[in-house]
Amino acid sequence: MAKKEKEKKTEASELKEKLFMKRRSTGLAMSEADIAKADKFCEGYKSFLDTAKTEREACAEAVRQAEAAGFVPFDKNAQYKPGDKVYRVNRGKAIILAVIGKKPVEQGVNIAAAHIDSPRLDLKQNPLYENEGLAYFKTHYYGGIKKYQWPVTPLALHGVIFKADGERVDVKIGEDDSDPVFVITDILPHLADEQYKRPVAKLVTGEELNILIGSRPFRDDKASEAVKLGIMCILNEKYGITESDFVSAELECVPAYKAKDVGFDRSLVGAYGQDDRVCAYTALEAILSVKSAPDRTAVTVLTDKEEIGSEGCTGLKSAYMRYFLADLAEMYGTDERTLLSGSKCLSADVNAGFDPTFSEPFEKMNASFMGRGVVVTKYTGARGKSGTSDASAEFVSEVRQMLDKDDVIWQTGELGKVDFGGGGTVAMYVANLNIDTIDVGVPVLSMHAPFELTAKNDVYMAYRAFRTFFKHS
Ligand code: MN
Ligand code: MN
Repeated sequence: MAKKEKEKKTEASELKEKLFMKRRSTGLAMSEADIAKADKFCEGYKSFLDTAKTEREACAEAVRQAEAAGFVPFDKNAQYKPGDKVYRVNRGKAIILAVIGKKPVEQGVNIAAAHIDSPRLDLKQNPLYENEGLAYFKTHYYGGIKKYQWPVTPLALHGVIFKADGERVDVKIGEDDSDPVFVITDILPHLADEQYKRPVAKLVTGEELNILIGSRPFRDDKASEAVKLGIMCILNEKYGITESDFVSAELECVPAYKAKDVGFDRSLVGAYGQDDRVCAYTALEAILSVKSAPDRTAVTVLTDKEEIGSEGCTGLKSAYMRYFLADLAEMYGTDERTLLSGSKCLSADVNAGFDPTFSEPFEKMNASFMGRGVVVTKYTGARGKSGTSDASAEFVSEVRQMLDKDDVIWQTGELGKVDFGGGGTVAMYVANLNIDTIDVGVPVLSMHAPFELTAKNDVYMAYRAFRTFFKHS
């Protein structure tokens, strides 16, 4: 069989084989044993997605897993030896994990940086109202969403409330099978003639994303706002809060369903919040899998606020990662700028997978495809590479060799056609610290929708890529 095929090869086909760029399908290139490993890896991934739907929950789950793997809270006055494992949490919403390497940190560290916030609907600070016998929460959406995708999908409420005396109350409702869920309504098609005339971006407006939370009045005929009162009584009984306490709360509405296998062949994962928990989970598991001291200190950063521009103290425009690295530098008698300048970063974030049904915004030669491995994205941005760090050819070359050497299946990717939109990641904020940075992540279908899709083999290849990076000197 093999011989016969060989005889058939023409000179041209041999040259093509040798000279043309190939995109490998993970489904064909991976061994059956490796595909089984990918499937198994994604069982852990799906439970992470169910446990960690918000940045706070993802951070807490990372701490739990890190401690189980022997990581301890970083103490800047301690002395660590190669192989020691440390972590530092920033305000419960971001975490840095590190495994101390054998080489002096003045030569730099290897950082994988992913984000654990996802697009969602946040409650406003004064959210509760009643209208015609129905009670609602008003929301302000967080991150880039297609607003029409959020009505008529079951929603859960996650977050924290600080009462007048400062006491913290944790909220997670809508996830247990016995929990109620919440929902935004939409107008029936019979009466949607006027709605259909709206431009699509305004099909459902921000101020129409009101979440229905109840309909039974407090049983007193004389009171106005009796439904609102009924809800407030339940909230007071359950959480001990009054209406004013919403002011000091962070409550996030997220889809109430769990991660599922998608397809007869179960080759895809469907879930909320895979941008960017797919890279957060793979970068987390990669650093947890570091068993002996790596050459260079390995660092995983799981950050917050990427979806709204990385602003604020828990986003990567904040100095918190730099401060951690500065503490590490001081500990080893070097300075921050030397450590930073020698460091390398994989900005671990997703890319848009080519969608055959909506192919128009993609440029096929440079798009990333589902099931063809982890995506290496040299630049993102919009309108002439604005708002991107554009990794150097030297660094792309280094990363390419690193992945090939360890047989990690990868592909190149660009976010859509030129001038068709665009986006960014944390890459530029890390690169601005004089750290060589490139985006490496998983292709996603329906990105930023309440139910996003990834291919299991790609998820596994992302894990392999980050694991390889932590071994890379
Ligand atoms: Mn992202
Ligand atoms: Mn995003």
